[in-house]
Amino acid sequence: MAKRVLVVEDNELNLKLFCDLLRAHDFAAEPVSDGREAVARARDFAPDLIVMDIQMPHVTGYDLIRELKRDAELRRIPIMAVTAYAGREDEERIRSAGADAYVSKPISLMRFIEEVRALIPAAPEAEMPAPEPESAPELALEPQPDTDATDTPDAPETEARD
Ligand code: MN
Repeated sequence: MAKRVLVVEDNELNLKLFCDLLRAHDFAAEPVSDGREAVARARDFAPDLIVMDIQMPHVTGYDLIRELKRDAELRRIPIMAVTAYAGREDEERIRSAGADAYVSKPISLMRFIEEVRALIPAAPEAEMPAPEPESAPELALEPQPDTDATDTPDAPETEARD
């Protein structure tokens, strides 16, 4: 079953980009563009991971991360923060709010997916390789009997010569 990722991001283009990227890697992605809906949606969707934008109108990612981590049920869901700020102070603020990882914008798509996989234990491509298709063992062909090699010894010509 596909792992579920809730994506909280007010920028519609980024929201679509993240969701498309996740779906291309076999995750079930659920977009949330209004941060005020994030906690309720997390409860309904029961994601395996939350991707959280930090800069949003109405409510910041920091506030949402703190709120999620205070919730007895939701706190177990790992949170990957996404932010335009890449300074050390920002990273510390993000981590102290309770985020498990953070990726800075502009996003490296490769790094984004790597971080997602690292935060979800059995992410699709981290699972064991699919079993090889079963193939019937090939029957060893018995050597065909030589049919045209029936040497019938010539009857000895017996010429009676008197
Ligand atoms: Mn934003």
